[in-house]
Amino acid sequence: MAESMTGLKRTCRCAELTTENISQTVTVMGWVQKSRNKGGIVFVDLRDRSGIIQLIFEESNVGKEGFEKAAKLRSEFVVAVTGTVTKRSGAINENLKTGEIEVVATDIRILSESETPPFPIEENSKTKDELRLKYRYLDLRRPDLQRNLILRSKVAMVARQFLADEGFLEIETPILIKSTPEGARDYLVPSRVHPGSFYALPQSPQVLKQLLMCSGYDRYFQIAKCFRDEDLRADRQPEFTQIDMELSFVDVDDVLDVNERLLQKMFALIDVDVPLPIPRMTWQEAMDRFGSDKPDTRFGMEIINLTEQVKDSSFPVFANAIAEGGSVRCIVAKNAAATLTRKAIDKLTEQAKGIGAKGLAFIRWADEKPNCSFAKFMSEEELSALLHTLGCEQGDVVLIVADKDRVVLPTLGQLRLTLGKQLELIPEGQYNFLWITEFPFFEWDEESQTWLAMHHPFTMPLEECLPYIDSDPGSVRAQAYDMVVNGVELLSGSIRITDYELQQKMFEALGLTDEEIEAKFGFLVDAYKYGAPPHGGAALGLDRIVMTMCGCDSLRDVVAFPKVQNASELMSQCPSPVDQKSLDDLAIAITEMEKEEE
Ligand code: ASP
Repeated sequence: MAESMTGLKRTCRCAELTTENISQTVTVMGWVQKSRNKGGIVFVDLRDRSGIIQLIFEESNVGKEGFEKAAKLRSEFVVAVTGTVTKRSGAINENLKTGEIEVVATDIRILSESETPPFPIEENSKTKDELRLKYRYLDLRRPDLQRNLILRSKVAMVARQFLADEGFLEIETPILIKSTPEGARDYLVPSRVHPGSFYALPQSPQVLKQLLMCSGYDRYFQIAKCFRDEDLRADRQPEFTQIDMELSFVDVDDVLDVNERLLQKMFALIDVDVPLPIPRMTWQEAMDRFGSDKPDTRFGMEIINLTEQVKDSSFPVFANAIAEGGSVRCIVAKNAAATLTRKAIDKLTEQAKGIGAKGLAFIRWADEKPNCSFAKFMSEEELSALLHTLGCEQGDVVLIVADKDRVVLPTLGQLRLTLGKQLELIPEGQYNFLWITEFPFFEWDEESQTWLAMHHPFTMPLEECLPYIDSDPGSVRAQAYDMVVNGVELLSGSIRITDYELQQKMFEALGLTDEEIEAKFGFLVDAYKYGAPPHGGAALGLDRIVMTMCGCDSLRDVVAFPKVQNASELMSQCPSPVDQKSLDDLAIAITEMEKEEE
């Protein structure tokens, strides 16, 4: 039977005790990590969110009844223990913060017993994800997850404080809203009062924060939940948290400045210095050099353009790509011939094909004579001139892709990342911050054969690009920016269009009819008719920032109750069917096909 804690007060957390507390009487409460009964003495490691303290139970101190209770403790029992802090009688435990001390118990209450947990509560658990997520409340007891969530709380706190100091107001916006255009699928909520009509959960508070600027709030922020019904990846959850902000009367430099100072404050929490100003790179340069709009700049292996060099080549793959307006580019893996065997190159070729390339040409210089996949089309002199231009030496491997730029660049960008990992080129413990600026406004969508907004349709084009909106949409660059750290996008934002006519024109360029504009964004564009201040903003991905700071590979490690790949949550098992009455209230009928899939 569990005992009550009536009359007892916890005096501190377990690992808050230090040698300073020696000879004090304390009361600690927490979970039994482990207990060892060595005859007349029971040793217990007691755990709470601060860490572990060793407790000692001997009948002479804790009494007969107390000793009996101690002897029956098992893992995950919850206890309250009063005792005296003393210097350890045994050897100091270097691995514990409290390794020099122990608490000699004089009283114990068992507040709750525990069945044997389905997996041990320990750091770096080897237990399968599915089991841990099913018992997430146990998983969350593990010290590594607790550290992550404690850091997450601190990061959010720093953001609130910093932004308040900078004159931002925290304003909440609703969760049941009209759809916002961030380019993902909406989560919809049926209305009971208006059968057949739906709210959307916000993909972001984008439109509402812009309206707050129109209403004169000047500087807004919110730690906002956002919902996007997309396929999940390690760095994507269907619901996630943004530190969302919007500022009036600002230009790009102002928004970047406030955000880099905010990031500097956040990373100071883990003693990482972020030197300011953070370097900037245009989107085009990032694509040309790294084949990615979120380049990992912790290692080199930059993309080299060979188009000029091979423009007269008789190799049909190169010649055709160039004739069709594409390019021939490569990356050079230095001193990698031993690792990049023919088999390894075949694997990279498969990867390249998966991204959309037709193949991968290569020069592998393992032996004295380089082995070139297109040697038939090149004289030995030409090959050695090419290798010379690339600065290659024996031991190097050159990987070449020829196609349209939109295939060549991302393919080499991905291969570069694969090789960075495979060849262990990425230094540990380094944080490379980088602004990516001047994103294209439009992005061509092959599937729908239309232009889409790369950021969102409210993004202001660069003034010098305004004349090309109709004639050459692909060349229109935007006042949009991302912050990237080690290849992870942590922030995204832009200066917004506040001119009614320009906004209308951009909507039209995106293929929206007047009726669609009115139905989707009528309220926003109308607001611009009544005095809209110039404004811009950004959203920082809180989950991703914390993930980066913790050095984790998955958002699951920094979100308390995450969803898995198929967007379900394994502990409570949602989504789940609802009863017929609820469906009837909402005037919803489930079709037979969907029922069968269940
Ligand atoms: N709403 C944008 C996003 O979620 C951020 C912004 O433009 O402020 O990416």
